[in-house]
Amino acid sequence: MIVVGGGAAGMMAAIRAAELGRRVLILEKNPMLGRKVLVSGNGRCNIANAGARVENFHGENNRFLHSAFARFGVGRTLEFFEELGLVLKEEKLGRIFPVSNQAASVVALLAYRMEQLGVRVACGTCVTGVEREGTAFRIDLKNAPAARARRVVLAPGGKSFPKLGTTGDGYEWARRLGHRVTELHPALAPMEAELARLHGLQGIRLEAELTSKSGGKRHRTFRGDLLFTAYGLSGPTVLAASADLATRPSGSHPGFEVNFFPGQDAAALDALLARRWEADPGRRPGFSFVGLLPGRMGHVLLESLGIDPDGPPVGQLGGTARRRIAEALTRWEIRVWGCRGWDEAEVTAGGVAVDGLDPRTLESKHCKGLYFCGEVLDIFGDWGGYNFQFAWSTGWIAGEEAAK
Ligand SMILES: Cc1cc2nc3c(=O)[nH]c(=O)nc-3n(C[C@H](O)[C@H](O)[C@H](O)COP(=O)(O)OP(=O)(O)OC[C@H]3O[C@@H](n4cnc5c(N)ncnc54)[C@H](O)[C@@H]3O)c2cc1C
Repeated sequence: MIVVGGGAAGMMAAIRAAELGRRVLILEKNPMLGRKVLVSGNGRCNIANAGARVENFHGENNRFLHSAFARFGVGRTLEFFEELGLVLKEEKLGRIFPVSNQAASVVALLAYRMEQLGVRVACGTCVTGVEREGTAFRIDLKNAPAARARRVVLAPGGKSFPKLGTTGDGYEWARRLGHRVTELHPALAPMEAELARLHGLQGIRLEAELTSKSGGKRHRTFRGDLLFTAYGLSGPTVLAASADLATRPSGSHPGFEVNFFPGQDAAALDALLARRWEADPGRRPGFSFVGLLPGRMGHVLLESLGIDPDGPPVGQLGGTARRRIAEALTRWEIRVWGCRGWDEAEVTAGGVAVDGLDPRTLESKHCKGLYFCGEVLDIFGDWGGYNFQFAWSTGWIAGEEAAK
């Protein structure tokens, strides 16, 4: 059996198939296995999410995942890694990491397990095509004779972070084998936003809430670090919220609302400002935010509301202006143009349509003996360990089924 791609899904598929007694060969373009795993989570690898549910995954049909998660969901995944010797811990938002804080330990243990099971690994081997040949498959290789196998698992990942080896090669192979590929978009990426009025916030990082909106409706709220950059917004909360950009119908105008005072609404902030202003009515408006917001943020926000930060003291501003400020700072509208490109996106939205696969086995409906797993599929997860969960679950099932 051949597994194309030695990333998260491919390694998992190879291990499961070898556990069931199959002889497995992994073909990997990079000089090493699991390159994306190594850089993930800032080198710590957010390996899974304790709260992963089908609703955290997006694509034409996320319900496709019910059977995969019923068979190999979060619980089985964590057991699998603990049995390998990887001790895990849960952090904020259900994010699970190795206690070692080292993605390298994840790859080292997976590689050790493959060695134990006799999985053969051909790194530095670039696949250039996958074709049906009778009842088997021919895998064309750059600079080497073609390989052949009756069972093939395709796990070549998506298009994001091409410098890590993922250049979207699998989509064309899938098309030639009869599969439909849905529209591809970069996802879980920093956002390009209209910052003209907020230009002065560049470089400022703070905890905030970001709420996605469309057609006047508020969707999901994400809370955490937000960073203002030259082009727009970045930071973990922005990557998380960008999932909602990739899932909107194209052409719809995405919008986001920022609450600079997470956990508080306009009334609560108004009451807080009223207390501060009454305590010292002589402070200038901009200075009245020092100690509440980082740096010159109060100045920039007030200026963009048309209130002079160095103008008359807050005692002279009055309740109407204060309520307007409180309303604006808890529901600040930001116009977003879209996600940054493939070089900065953590995952690919879109991919091989799941209606071409059997959800119980991940086998192609068009080519018997061909299985798909991981990011190459038209499903991506929210930010926070969900995408590796998807890779482990689908990798395990594709490996088990291909081995049968
Ligand atoms: C910077 C960054 C940080 C991330 N952090 C996290 C995180 O902390 N938690 C999380 O859940 N997700 C994270 N992700 C997303 C996660 O890494 C991916 O969703 C996951 O790796 C997908 O697994 P995969 O096996 O399907 O694909 P990949 O891991 O991308 O593996 C595909 C493999 O196939 C190989 N390949 C491609 N084409 C060919 C070819 N022609 N011939 C041979 N081999 C080929 C590639 O070299 C690659 O090794 C992160 C992504 C990035 C870019």
